[in-house]
Amino acid sequence: MGLCRCLQIHAWPKGKRRKYVAYVQPVGYPNTSLICGLCNNPGVIWLDRLEVSAYLNGQRIFDGPNAFTRMKVGDDGIQDLEIENMPEKLKIDDTFIERWHPRCDEIADDEQEYQAIIRKISNELKESGNISNDTFVRILDWKAPRVKGIVRLDEFKVYAKTIGQALQAPEDRKLEILVGLYGIGVPVGSTILHFIYPDLFPIMDIRTAETLHYAERIESKQRDLKRYTPFRSVILDIRQKHPRWSLRQIDRTLFAYHKIELKPMLRKGRQIPKSTKKVPVEGSKMETEEYIKSIGNSGDTILIS
Ligand SMILES: [Zn+2]
Repeated sequence: MGLCRCLQIHAWPKGKRRKYVAYVQPVGYPNTSLICGLCNNPGVIWLDRLEVSAYLNGQRIFDGPNAFTRMKVGDDGIQDLEIENMPEKLKIDDTFIERWHPRCDEIADDEQEYQAIIRKISNELKESGNISNDTFVRILDWKAPRVKGIVRLDEFKVYAKTIGQALQAPEDRKLEILVGLYGIGVPVGSTILHFIYPDLFPIMDIRTAETLHYAERIESKQRDLKRYTPFRSVILDIRQKHPRWSLRQIDRTLFAYHKIELKPMLRKGRQIPKSTKKVPVEGSKMETEEYIKSIGNSGDTILIS
């Protein structure tokens, strides 16, 4: 989201979690109805790296920090881009996964139980075509013990029937069916699916979603049904491009990175590490735009609303 601040007094706003790297002028500037959020001067719209890419790709309307208003910017181009402030995007590749997935063992002690549940479910599905009450409870214990107090465990038949329906349903409907169950949201629903189909459905939770969002691979870190599809595509894409790793290992990677590095960094509001890339410093506008386009398309697709 863009931020409206004047150039006269409040230039180079600092975001706690966002790094503003440039600004654009709203339509009509300086005779604009957009006024700095901190004084009475006309405001310009400050953009972060992703938004600069969006601007260069033709986006002219930007969201503010809430739904109160949106801002339309003109065609005068990116102003005062601070290339040295453009943070390098987090890359989720073999090196990253190799480095981070083992570190999950430092912070979580759930791998043994994970493997045990995977084996148990596989047997149960072969024997009865569904999962048992006991296994269902073990999944809840493993993922979200809190949810155990919410779901109606005395009505397990209802849950078993719905899980059976999800098993029969096409891939893109399975989660929707599960989250129709009382007490089951997307995090737990996707966990159930993951245990049944460990190679097809990743588990969506706050840590993995926030890491992917920080890496600019998904637009939103919300965990709801609508957001599961892009979340899943990104994880399956990582898996396809880096076939050495299972969905579980990718999940552990994102989880460990979030808990050990990303979350403490976001909490401190610390600046994102600066790019070490050498960039054209004299930077004619053209060079600058090409540079941004090049990093905006470095391997991974950037999602722009
Ligand atoms: Zn101001």
